[in-house]
Amino acid sequence: MPKRIFSGIQPSGEVHIGNYVGALRNWARLAAEYECIYCLVDYHAITAPYPPAMMPGRVHEAAVAVLSAGVDPARTILFLQSDVPEHTELAWVLASVTPLGALERMTQFKEKGAEQPSQNLGLLAYPVLQAADILLYKAELVPVGEDQVQHLELAREIARKFNAAFRPVFPEPQPLLTPTPRIMGVDGKTKMSKSRDNTIPMLDPPEAIWERLRTAVTDENRKRRSDPGNPDVCNIYTLHKAFSSAEEVEMVNRECRSAGIGCIDCKRLLHRNLTAELEPVRERAAELARRPERVREILDDGARRARAIASAVMEEVREAMGLRLPVKEPAGR
Ligand code: SF4
Repeated sequence: MPKRIFSGIQPSGEVHIGNYVGALRNWARLAAEYECIYCLVDYHAITAPYPPAMMPGRVHEAAVAVLSAGVDPARTILFLQSDVPEHTELAWVLASVTPLGALERMTQFKEKGAEQPSQNLGLLAYPVLQAADILLYKAELVPVGEDQVQHLELAREIARKFNAAFRPVFPEPQPLLTPTPRIMGVDGKTKMSKSRDNTIPMLDPPEAIWERLRTAVTDENRKRRSDPGNPDVCNIYTLHKAFSSAEEVEMVNRECRSAGIGCIDCKRLLHRNLTAELEPVRERAAELARRPERVREILDDGARRARAIASAVMEEVREAMGLRLPVKEPAGR
């Protein structure tokens, strides 16, 4: 049996190439080797203020992005978190074995909490829901970037604590560290994020992508064409590593340092490779735009298949916790 993977993406707005390189492209590839369960985690997206009227559009957009990136719904389970209520049910159960101090120490809680005028319990309990997402399917592997390792470690601790307090129900999920370059925004300094307006949207047409690349910040010490550059501090070089061939990456590395290539030519090469890779992605998105009802059908089917697993695991959890009355023997036996 192939190992089971769980991964989620927040429907928090326009999907950009950072999401594509960091998650979605891998999601499509992993399906060839593993049993993959992919979730649009809308209950995670509500822990920060958001406009409710925009949420349905964001969910649709996230689903289109996942499917366009090449995730095949026939070979994977793709669903919306709030369509499977067992996620929040298990989160409550797991909250009862989660140490409060561990949640307060989470780096993401400290960082995100600092961005908000007042902190809510959902933001603090976010990693418990994340643990529930994973454990509900007894997932063995979770593809994670460096910034999620701490949360997965907590999910493993929560699984251990539950198993010790009741009986072994959950496997401890292992990280599947995927070597993905850390993509910064076009400002070259901060993580790609819509709120900072520094993204390259995944489904933008080639001309719009060129406009973003053309003005993107490079090595700021390279003031003139004749100045040698340092690719190690340049986000365009990082993007080359994600979209260009090994020979081209090597060439850019060499020629940038000797001023053999200018930034505009370097960006043109990146643009050519990036848009070539994204062309089939945009075609699949255009196909889904012609049949928007197909997205709902895929999510409904995914939720049905996810619930079949989730409800059986929840039953096991309730039994382990003594939340079920013993079945009465029929009279006369
Ligand atoms: Fe960056 Fe390319 Fe310019 Fe070098 S040549 S600084 S890698 S954009």
